[in-house]
Amino acid sequence: MLGLDIGGTAIKSALVAPDGRALSAVAHHPVRAAGRDPETIVGAVLDRAAGLLDAAVAQGVAVRALGVAACGVIDESAGVAVFSASFGWQDVPLRRLLAERTGLPVVLGHDVRAGGVAEARLGAGRGHEVFLFVPVGTGVGAAVMLGGRPFTGGHWRAGELGHVVVRPGGDRCGCGQRGCLSTVAGGPAVVKRYRRLAGLDGGAPSDAATVVRLATEGDRVAAEV
Ligand SMILES: [Zn+2]
Repeated sequence: MLGLDIGGTAIKSALVAPDGRALSAVAHHPVRAAGRDPETIVGAVLDRAAGLLDAAVAQGVAVRALGVAACGVIDESAGVAVFSASFGWQDVPLRRLLAERTGLPVVLGHDVRAGGVAEARLGAGRGHEVFLFVPVGTGVGAAVMLGGRPFTGGHWRAGELGHVVVRPGGDRCGCGQRGCLSTVAGGPAVVKRYRRLAGLDGGAPSDAATVVRLATEGDRVAAEV
């Protein structure tokens, strides 16, 4: 299977065997900042999927299906990307578009719920009936895992922790609200607040992991952030 993860800054891909083993290293393909209208991004995703399939065939790998995870609100039953603050797209029938382009069966899932399923089957969630999977990336997401399956809620929005307003009137979020959790605890937000409080402009640190490391080393500003 070819796995694709359509994220806010990059499309990641890997060839995966049915038992979950990765047959190739995860490859990162930056999403170009220029021309980020929804049609351009959908076109880039389709081109990337077709290109990766061609490359797999050239290596002698027979790809049977495509598993696609994307950020935002995803209707997994309909195979539709309902909304994404990162891409500005609405109601994109990604599953049908990818199936038409590649001729393969396609499953479309929410990126964080897909991560939760992976943890339940292959990772830290194995053997646990109920757990939360909370990845911190550009934003903050969560999958509510019950009995090994993600709870989606009635409108495919369960676990959208990142857009819960925790600082009313705070920084503007990509979703249009102010003060969402992602504007406080998302990776770029953590870096921005550290630089602001430490009186730095530009330069290090460039990622939230560095701020976390500084905090564990006793940096008071990092601990406050
Ligand atoms: Zn938001």
